Amino acid sequence: MSMNLVTLLYLIASICFIQALKGLSHPTTSIRGNVFGMVGMAIAVVTTAALIYKLAGESAQGLVYVLGGLVVGGGIGAYMANRVEMTKMPELVAFMHSMIGLAAVFIAVAAAVEPWAFGITGHNSPIPHGNRLELALGAAIGAITFSGSVIAFGKLSGKYKFRLFQGAPVQFKGQHMLNLALALALVFFIVGYTVSEARIDMWLLIALAFVLGVLIIIPIGGADMPVVVSMLNSYSGWAAAGIGFSLNNSMLIIAGSLVGSSGAILSYIMCKAMNRSFFNVILGGFGGDAAAATGGKAEQRPVKSGSADDAAFVLSQAETVVIVPGYGLAVARAQHAVKELAAKLTEKGINVKYAIHPVAGRMPGHMNVLLAEAEVPYDQVFEMEDINGEFGQADVAIILGANDVVNPAAHTKGSPIYGMPILEAYKAKTVIVNKRSMAAGYAGLDNELFYMDKTMMVFGDAKKVVEDIGKAVE
Ligand code: NDP
Repeated sequence: MSMNLVTLLYLIASICFIQALKGLSHPTTSIRGNVFGMVGMAIAVVTTAALIYKLAGESAQGLVYVLGGLVVGGGIGAYMANRVEMTKMPELVAFMHSMIGLAAVFIAVAAAVEPWAFGITGHNSPIPHGNRLELALGAAIGAITFSGSVIAFGKLSGKYKFRLFQGAPVQFKGQHMLNLALALALVFFIVGYTVSEARIDMWLLIALAFVLGVLIIIPIGGADMPVVVSMLNSYSGWAAAGIGFSLNNSMLIIAGSLVGSSGAILSYIMCKAMNRSFFNVILGGFGGDAAAATGGKAEQRPVKSGSADDAAFVLSQAETVVIVPGYGLAVARAQHAVKELAAKLTEKGINVKYAIHPVAGRMPGHMNVLLAEAEVPYDQVFEMEDINGEFGQADVAIILGANDVVNPAAHTKGSPIYGMPILEAYKAKTVIVNKRSMAAGYAGLDNELFYMDKTMMVFGDAKKVVEDIGKAVE
């Protein structure tokens, strides 16, 4: 295989990746986008395998290792992806980011120790300064991505006893100064390695970057986690691109840059949607009072509660109903039941709309994916900025397994979610809230909306409650 053919195939794979990103930007084209991504990745993998075979002087030994890695790693990946529930996707994504980060560290270390094996230098010649910088940056970003993603994994799954892995922010005095000092020390060792090629600098910069990754993520609390997930996604791309430069592999540079830049753009969009400054999020803990979080415990105050029949009665009397889906709807897998309920209401001449908050659920676009799976018509689905003006005229807002995204605490100074735009369901004439208990949402905050006079709580699993409401409406 000639190098020209390799370059051409890499170019075709890159175009497929760009088409994949384009396709994934809308639900109607997302399947096509995924197909492009898979085709691009297959071309990249096969071309790289052929390249290894060629560079190894037609010896199959290197290729055997690579294929072994592909079979074992690919097998584990396929098994996990097949088993994972939709609500656990963010943890899987965080896990994958951590693996990309660790791979970048391993490659950087291997290339620093045996640069000739990677074609960077000849035997016993020094590594050129440019390559040293690329290796140091790749290793540092990879190490931050790895340890940061491990903490994010724990925070997203929220089931580990160890405090660092819990959703609530971990803050202490002098945290920002410590992070700054570590960041400066990291830069010092990156420069040190670039100038001297001393291995000790490489080991120290990796150790510092591991610690920094942990420290950057632990102060980040509930509502800011979506930004962190997309930020780590971006870091993993840049780590891959850095290593691509060292290995002189254009595919890795292009694919890494695409992931890095799209992750950065997504982080920016999420920050805008959450009314947060990107730097405040990554510096952690600004503008929020962690003590305000209830840690998921329910407050003991009276609320009005009703049955599925009561909810069906209220809904049947309405002219306009806005459905607000949240994480609990995904947990209960109630999307098909909701679609059926909406169809029954529409049959009765009631105008039904869905309101989607950009961070509802546990991953970007979670609710859109869920509703698309149930084949909810796209023209009934509205983004936050398009629907918020309509809550005031809506007869009923029915909130299904959502909490933080409708929490009016976002308007209260000092609240950890202060400034985050919410779906203004509290403006509807009547509010129906379905959840299983009075427990808090992901941000660990109590929700005033549940105690309002016009609110009726309907307790129970979303799927069962929505099915019961549907039967009663009929
Ligand atoms: P929340 O996590 O705030 O609330 C979900 C609610 O659903 C809970 O209060 C829970 O109450 C209820 N619930 C859980 N299971 C069920 C069930 N089977 N049936 C009925 N109700 C159920 O969800 P939101 O969607 O409102 O907000 C998302 C939160 O997650 C935000 O804070 C966001 O920042 C964060 N986040 C978002 C990510 C993203 O990319 N979208 C990523 C990471 C975090 P109960 O236990 O009483 O039933």
